Amino acid sequence: MKAEMAEQVATFPQKYGRVPHLVVILVGEDPASQSYVRGKGKACEVVGIKNTTILKPASITEQELLDIIAGLNADPEVDGILVQLPLPDHINEARIINAIDKSKDVDGFHPLNVAALWMKEPCTVACTPKGIIRMLDEAGVEIKGKRAVVIGRSQIVGLPVAKLLLDRNATVTICHSRTKDLAAVCREAEILVVAIGRPKFVTADMVSDGTVVIDVGVNRDPETGKLCGDVDFDAIEPKASVITPVPGGVGPMTITCLMENTIECFLAKQK
Ligand code: NAP
Repeated sequence: MKAEMAEQVATFPQKYGRVPHLVVILVGEDPASQSYVRGKGKACEVVGIKNTTILKPASITEQELLDIIAGLNADPEVDGILVQLPLPDHINEARIINAIDKSKDVDGFHPLNVAALWMKEPCTVACTPKGIIRMLDEAGVEIKGKRAVVIGRSQIVGLPVAKLLLDRNATVTICHSRTKDLAAVCREAEILVVAIGRPKFVTADMVSDGTVVIDVGVNRDPETGKLCGDVDFDAIEPKASVITPVPGGVGPMTITCLMENTIECFLAKQK
């Protein structure tokens, strides 16, 4: 998919006079955030998208960050603005996300994009949920009519992915920390999407044979210190018909969808 996007972007200078431009703002020195931002930069290079990363210390004030975003909103040659989350505690994340121009919100987190998704109106769809549906499609999984269970109800993963599955005519159950007998609910799933943030939380007894398992979690295995998902991959892989690894599954597809969203925001401005 990145190769196809690269081919498409290569035609833009002649057609539109420039390539899309994504600006990523990274506040502080969280190693995981630094690694995510590096991944986004590399993907931009592969696709041919111009990438600027703005690094700011964790001591930056909310107003200073808002001023940077206002400048980027006003810049006609900036197509996408992404503020890497989480932000330091003294900064109100919602206020920052709300400040990004909807038309440059490549993460799809702005309330107007979120609302448009629920209203089935044109919008930028958040990268991880979009990537999950893309992975299901690429794996040849029929979504329509399936029983889908989503564990997690965050605004950035659980809720939007449930909405996208519903829009594709799955019958969707959303689970969370108060769900009773989670294992029994999970065993009903034909498609199981797990977005909790707890290492190897989903065990083999929670998954029925033939289930499609999408593991969104990114955690450190407390025993090995290596990256792992929310799902006990080794135990569940033999039972699952499809299972996404961590790392290497949802994460890279999320970045691919970020590239796609940036191109879409760029093209929307060329009309
Ligand atoms: P979040 O905002 O912390 O939400 C976690 C969800 O899990 C909440 O809805 C919570 O329920 C639920 N939960 C927690 N403990 C549970 C339990 N024991 N049983 C059932 N549900 C439980 O997390 P998030 O932002 O959605 O992220 C989830 C994971 O995905 C994290 O590991 C994150 O790093 C990863 N992630 C990966 C990507 C990617 O591209 N690969 C992108 C985004 C996030 P309540 O609502 O009841 O609290």
